[in-house]
Amino acid sequence: MEHEKVPFMRIESQEIEIPIVSEGIDDLPVPPQVPRSLCVCVFSKNEHCSLDSKQRSKSATKLSVLVVASLMFMVVEMIGGVKANSLAVLTDAAHLLTDVVGFSIALFTVLASGWKATSYQSFGYHRLEVLSALFSVQLIWLISGILIYEAVDRIVHTKEKSVGVMVAGGIIWARPDWLVVDLICTLIFSVFAVSTTISMLKNIYGILMERTPSEIDIAGLEKGIKRIKGVRDVHDLHVWALTVGKTVLSCHVTSEPAVSSIQIIDKIRDYCESTYRIHHVTIQIE
Ligand SMILES: [Zn+2]
Ligand SMILES: [Zn+2]
Repeated sequence: MEHEKVPFMRIESQEIEIPIVSEGIDDLPVPPQVPRSLCVCVFSKNEHCSLDSKQRSKSATKLSVLVVASLMFMVVEMIGGVKANSLAVLTDAAHLLTDVVGFSIALFTVLASGWKATSYQSFGYHRLEVLSALFSVQLIWLISGILIYEAVDRIVHTKEKSVGVMVAGGIIWARPDWLVVDLICTLIFSVFAVSTTISMLKNIYGILMERTPSEIDIAGLEKGIKRIKGVRDVHDLHVWALTVGKTVLSCHVTSEPAVSSIQIIDKIRDYCESTYRIHHVTIQIE
Protein backbone atom coordinates (compact mmCIF):
# COMPACT_ATOMS: atom_id res chain seq x y z
CA MET A 1 0.00 0.00 0.00
CA GLU A 2 1.22 3.48 -0.80
CA HIS A 3 1.28 5.95 2.06
CA GLU A 4 -0.08 8.85 0.08
CA LYS A 5 -3.35 10.54 0.95
CA VAL A 6 -6.40 8.60 -0.17
CA PRO A 7 -7.98 10.51 -3.05
CA PHE A 8 -11.67 11.34 -2.95
CA MET A 9 -13.96 11.06 -5.90
CA ARG A 10 -16.82 13.50 -6.12
CA ILE A 11 -20.06 12.09 -7.48
CA GLU A 12 -22.27 15.01 -8.41
CA SER A 13 -25.61 13.26 -8.53
CA GLN A 14 -25.31 11.63 -5.11
CA GLU A 15 -23.21 14.29 -3.38
CA ILE A 16 -21.20 11.79 -1.43
CA GLU A 17 -17.48 11.24 -1.20
CA ILE A 18 -16.09 7.78 -1.80
CA PRO A 19 -12.45 6.99 -1.07
CA ILE A 20 -10.71 5.08 -3.85
CA VAL A 21 -8.76 2.63 -1.74
CA SER A 22 -7.10 0.56 -4.41
CA GLU A 23 -7.13 0.21 -8.17
CA GLY A 24 -7.20 -3.57 -7.70
CA ILE A 25 -10.84 -3.47 -6.58
CA ASP A 26 -11.85 -2.96 -10.20
CA ASP A 27 -10.59 -6.43 -11.08
CA LEU A 28 -13.03 -8.18 -8.76
CA PRO A 29 -16.08 -9.72 -10.42
CA VAL A 30 -19.21 -7.75 -9.64
CA PRO A 31 -22.76 -8.51 -10.78
CA PRO A 32 -23.58 -6.02 -13.54
CA GLN A 33 -26.79 -4.57 -12.04
CA VAL A 34 -25.20 -3.66 -8.69
CA PRO A 35 -23.92 -0.08 -8.76
CA ARG A 36 -20.64 -0.27 -6.87
CA SER A 37 -20.01 3.42 -6.82
CA LEU A 38 -23.03 4.26 -4.65
CA CYS A 39 -22.86 3.87 -0.90
CA VAL A 40 -26.28 5.42 -0.24
CA CYS A 41 -29.08 3.11 0.76
CA VAL A 42 -31.23 1.43 -1.87
CA PHE A 43 -34.26 2.96 -0.14
CA SER A 44 -32.99 6.45 -0.95
CA LYS A 45 -32.87 5.76 -4.66
CA ASN A 46 -35.74 6.83 -6.83
CA GLU A 47 -36.49 3.47 -8.45
CA HIS A 48 -37.62 1.97 -5.14
CA CYS A 49 -39.19 5.12 -3.82
CA SER A 50 -42.96 4.97 -4.09
CA LEU A 51 -43.26 8.75 -4.23
CA ASP A 52 -41.42 10.74 -6.84
CA SER A 53 -40.85 14.41 -6.17
CA LYS A 54 -43.96 15.53 -8.09
CA GLN A 55 -46.26 13.19 -6.16
CA ARG A 56 -44.49 14.20 -3.00
CA SER A 57 -45.19 17.90 -3.44
CA LYS A 58 -48.81 17.06 -4.35
CA SER A 59 -49.34 15.08 -1.14
CA ALA A 60 -47.50 17.74 0.83
CA THR A 61 -49.89 20.41 -0.44
CA LYS A 62 -52.97 18.28 0.35
CA LEU A 63 -51.69 17.53 3.84
CA SER A 64 -50.85 21.18 4.50
CA VAL A 65 -54.44 22.13 3.63
CA LEU A 66 -55.72 19.44 6.02
CA VAL A 67 -53.43 20.64 8.81
CA VAL A 68 -54.56 24.26 8.45
CA ALA A 69 -58.26 23.33 8.16
CA SER A 70 -58.32 21.07 11.22
CA LEU A 71 -56.28 23.63 13.14
CA MET A 72 -58.92 26.28 12.41
CA PHE A 73 -61.81 23.99 13.43
CA MET A 74 -59.89 23.06 16.56
CA VAL A 75 -59.44 26.69 17.64
CA VAL A 76 -63.15 27.42 17.06
CA GLU A 77 -64.16 24.35 19.08
CA MET A 78 -61.75 25.18 21.88
CA ILE A 79 -63.16 28.69 22.22
CA GLY A 80 -66.72 27.31 22.04
CA GLY A 81 -65.95 24.55 24.55
CA VAL A 82 -64.43 26.95 27.07
CA LYS A 83 -67.29 29.46 26.70
CA ALA A 84 -70.00 26.76 27.02
CA ASN A 85 -67.99 25.01 29.76
CA SER A 86 -68.53 21.76 27.85
CA LEU A 87 -65.92 19.09 28.34
CA ALA A 88 -67.35 17.02 25.47
CA VAL A 89 -66.79 19.88 23.01
CA LEU A 90 -63.27 20.28 24.40
CA THR A 91 -62.76 16.53 23.95
CA ASP A 92 -63.75 16.88 20.32
CA ALA A 93 -61.29 19.77 20.04
CA ALA A 94 -58.65 17.46 21.51
CA HIS A 95 -59.61 14.85 18.95
CA LEU A 96 -59.05 17.47 16.25
CA LEU A 97 -55.69 18.25 17.84
CA THR A 98 -54.64 14.62 17.47
CA ASP A 99 -55.80 14.87 13.83
CA VAL A 100 -53.64 17.95 13.38
CA VAL A 101 -50.68 16.09 14.87
CA GLY A 102 -51.42 13.03 12.71
CA PHE A 103 -51.59 15.07 9.49
CA SER A 104 -48.46 17.00 10.49
CA ILE A 105 -46.61 13.72 11.04
CA ALA A 106 -47.78 12.43 7.66
CA LEU A 107 -46.63 15.70 6.06
CA PHE A 108 -43.28 15.49 7.82
CA THR A 109 -42.85 11.87 6.73
CA VAL A 110 -43.65 12.73 3.11
CA LEU A 111 -41.05 15.51 3.19
CA ALA A 112 -38.48 13.33 4.99
CA SER A 113 -38.90 10.53 2.44
CA GLY A 114 -37.30 12.90 -0.07
CA TRP A 115 -34.17 13.38 2.03
CA LYS A 116 -31.15 11.48 0.80
CA ALA A 117 -29.33 9.02 3.02
CA THR A 118 -25.84 10.09 4.05
CA SER A 119 -22.82 7.99 4.95
CA TYR A 120 -23.60 8.47 8.64
CA GLN A 121 -27.40 8.32 8.34
CA SER A 122 -27.02 5.36 5.99
CA PHE A 123 -30.58 4.01 6.26
CA GLY A 124 -32.06 7.39 5.42
CA TYR A 125 -34.83 8.94 7.49
CA HIS A 126 -37.58 6.34 7.26
CA ARG A 127 -37.67 5.58 10.99
CA LEU A 128 -38.60 9.19 11.71
CA GLU A 129 -42.11 7.97 10.91
CA VAL A 130 -41.92 5.49 13.79
CA LEU A 131 -40.53 8.07 16.22
CA SER A 132 -43.25 10.53 15.23
CA ALA A 133 -45.96 7.89 15.64
CA LEU A 134 -44.65 7.11 19.12
CA PHE A 135 -44.76 10.81 19.95
CA SER A 136 -48.35 11.15 18.74
CA VAL A 137 -49.43 8.09 20.76
CA GLN A 138 -47.98 9.71 23.87
CA LEU A 139 -49.76 12.94 23.07
CA ILE A 140 -53.12 11.15 22.68
CA TRP A 141 -52.58 9.36 26.02
CA LEU A 142 -51.65 12.60 27.78
CA ILE A 143 -54.63 14.55 26.45
CA SER A 144 -57.06 11.68 27.07
CA GLY A 145 -55.68 11.28 30.59
CA ILE A 146 -56.24 14.95 31.38
CA LEU A 147 -59.79 14.84 29.95
CA ILE A 148 -60.72 11.62 31.79
CA TYR A 149 -59.34 13.07 35.03
CA GLU A 150 -61.31 16.28 34.49
CA ALA A 151 -64.53 14.38 33.64
CA VAL A 152 -64.28 12.09 36.69
CA ASP A 153 -63.45 15.09 38.86
CA ARG A 154 -66.51 16.95 37.61
CA ILE A 155 -68.76 13.89 38.10
CA VAL A 156 -67.52 13.37 41.66
CA HIS A 157 -67.82 17.09 42.33
CA THR A 158 -71.41 17.09 41.02
CA LYS A 159 -72.23 14.04 43.12
CA GLU A 160 -71.11 15.78 46.27
CA LYS A 161 -73.63 18.49 45.45
CA SER A 162 -76.12 15.65 44.84
CA VAL A 163 -77.46 16.68 41.45
CA GLY A 164 -78.70 13.16 40.76
CA VAL A 165 -75.44 11.50 39.80
CA MET A 166 -74.28 8.20 41.20
CA VAL A 167 -70.86 6.66 40.75
CA ALA A 168 -70.98 3.06 41.93
CA GLY A 169 -68.86 0.01 41.13
CA GLY A 170 -67.33 1.61 38.08
CA ILE A 171 -70.76 1.99 36.46
CA ILE A 172 -71.99 5.48 36.00
CA TRP A 173 -75.73 5.71 36.19
CA ALA A 174 -77.19 9.12 35.64
CA ARG A 175 -80.33 11.02 34.95
CA PRO A 176 -80.16 12.35 31.37
CA ASP A 177 -78.98 15.65 32.68
CA TRP A 178 -77.04 17.61 30.01
CA LEU A 179 -73.96 18.02 32.21
CA VAL A 180 -73.76 14.29 32.88
CA VAL A 181 -74.28 13.44 29.21
CA ASP A 182 -71.46 15.86 28.44
CA LEU A 183 -69.16 14.13 30.91
CA ILE A 184 -70.08 10.61 29.82
CA CYS A 185 -69.45 11.59 26.19
CA THR A 186 -66.05 12.89 27.28
CA LEU A 187 -65.22 9.58 28.96
CA ILE A 188 -66.39 7.50 25.98
CA PHE A 189 -64.51 9.63 23.43
CA SER A 190 -61.33 9.61 25.51
CA VAL A 191 -61.39 5.85 26.01
CA PHE A 192 -62.07 5.43 22.29
CA ALA A 193 -59.11 7.70 21.43
CA VAL A 194 -56.80 5.68 23.68
CA SER A 195 -58.04 2.39 22.21
CA THR A 196 -57.19 3.56 18.67
CA THR A 197 -53.55 3.86 19.73
CA ILE A 198 -53.31 0.13 20.46
CA SER A 199 -52.86 -0.90 16.82
CA MET A 200 -50.38 1.97 16.34
CA LEU A 201 -48.42 0.73 19.35
CA LYS A 202 -48.44 -2.80 17.94
CA ASN A 203 -46.86 -1.54 14.69
CA ILE A 204 -44.32 0.60 16.56
CA TYR A 205 -43.39 -2.32 18.82
CA GLY A 206 -42.97 -4.65 15.83
CA ILE A 207 -40.64 -2.25 14.04
CA LEU A 208 -38.56 -1.28 17.08
CA MET A 209 -38.21 -4.94 18.12
CA GLU A 210 -37.22 -5.76 14.52
CA ARG A 211 -39.98 -8.35 14.20
CA THR A 212 -40.55 -9.96 10.82
CA PRO A 213 -43.32 -7.89 9.19
CA SER A 214 -46.66 -9.69 9.48
CA GLU A 215 -47.20 -9.73 5.69
CA ILE A 216 -44.11 -11.92 5.24
CA ASP A 217 -44.43 -15.68 5.67
CA ILE A 218 -40.96 -16.34 7.07
CA ALA A 219 -41.26 -20.15 6.97
CA GLY A 220 -42.31 -20.02 3.31
CA LEU A 221 -39.50 -17.60 2.52
CA GLU A 222 -36.92 -19.88 4.15
CA LYS A 223 -38.25 -22.89 2.24
CA GLY A 224 -38.16 -20.87 -0.99
CA ILE A 225 -34.50 -19.91 -0.47
CA LYS A 226 -33.59 -23.53 0.33
CA ARG A 227 -35.26 -24.65 -2.91
CA ILE A 228 -33.00 -22.38 -5.00
CA LYS A 229 -30.43 -24.39 -7.00
CA GLY A 230 -27.01 -24.37 -5.35
CA VAL A 231 -28.32 -23.53 -1.86
CA ARG A 232 -27.55 -26.26 0.65
CA ASP A 233 -28.84 -24.52 3.76
CA VAL A 234 -29.72 -21.12 5.15
CA HIS A 235 -29.24 -19.74 8.66
CA ASP A 236 -29.19 -16.38 10.47
CA LEU A 237 -32.18 -15.39 8.40
CA HIS A 238 -33.43 -11.97 9.52
CA VAL A 239 -36.26 -10.01 7.98
CA TRP A 240 -37.18 -6.68 9.51
CA ALA A 241 -38.56 -3.30 8.51
CA LEU A 242 -37.10 0.20 8.74
CA THR A 243 -40.67 1.43 8.76
CA VAL A 244 -43.94 0.01 7.45
CA GLY A 245 -43.32 -1.22 3.89
CA LYS A 246 -39.51 -0.80 3.89
CA THR A 247 -38.36 -4.36 4.45
CA VAL A 248 -34.78 -5.56 4.79
CA LEU A 249 -33.45 -9.13 4.66
CA SER A 250 -30.11 -10.62 5.63
CA CYS A 251 -29.05 -14.28 5.74
CA HIS A 252 -26.13 -16.70 5.63
CA VAL A 253 -26.23 -19.35 2.92
CA THR A 254 -24.11 -22.49 2.67
CA SER A 255 -23.70 -23.30 -1.00
CA GLU A 256 -23.01 -26.38 -3.08
CA PRO A 257 -19.29 -26.34 -3.99
CA ALA A 258 -19.74 -26.35 -7.78
CA VAL A 259 -22.18 -23.43 -8.02
CA SER A 260 -21.09 -19.82 -8.44
CA SER A 261 -21.82 -17.59 -5.44
CA ILE A 262 -22.82 -14.71 -7.67
CA GLN A 263 -25.51 -16.79 -9.35
CA ILE A 264 -26.89 -17.88 -5.97
CA ILE A 265 -26.95 -14.30 -4.71
CA ASP A 266 -28.70 -13.13 -7.89
CA LYS A 267 -31.33 -15.85 -7.61
CA ILE A 268 -32.02 -15.20 -3.93
CA ARG A 269 -32.26 -11.47 -4.56
CA ASP A 270 -34.66 -11.97 -7.48
CA TYR A 271 -36.76 -14.38 -5.42
CA CYS A 272 -37.00 -11.94 -2.47
CA GLU A 273 -37.87 -9.02 -4.75
CA SER A 274 -40.45 -10.77 -6.88
CA THR A 275 -42.17 -12.90 -4.24
CA TYR A 276 -41.93 -10.75 -1.12
CA ARG A 277 -41.09 -7.30 -2.51
CA ILE A 278 -37.97 -7.10 -0.35
CA HIS A 279 -35.62 -4.78 -2.26
CA HIS A 280 -32.83 -4.63 0.31
CA VAL A 281 -31.17 -8.05 0.56
CA THR A 282 -27.79 -8.89 2.10
CA ILE A 283 -26.46 -12.44 1.65
CA GLN A 284 -23.34 -14.06 3.06
CA ILE A 285 -22.19 -17.18 1.20
CA GLU A 286 -20.34 -19.76 3.28
ZN1 LIG B 1 -29.10 0.14 2.25
ZN1 LIG C 1 -23.20 -18.26 9.14
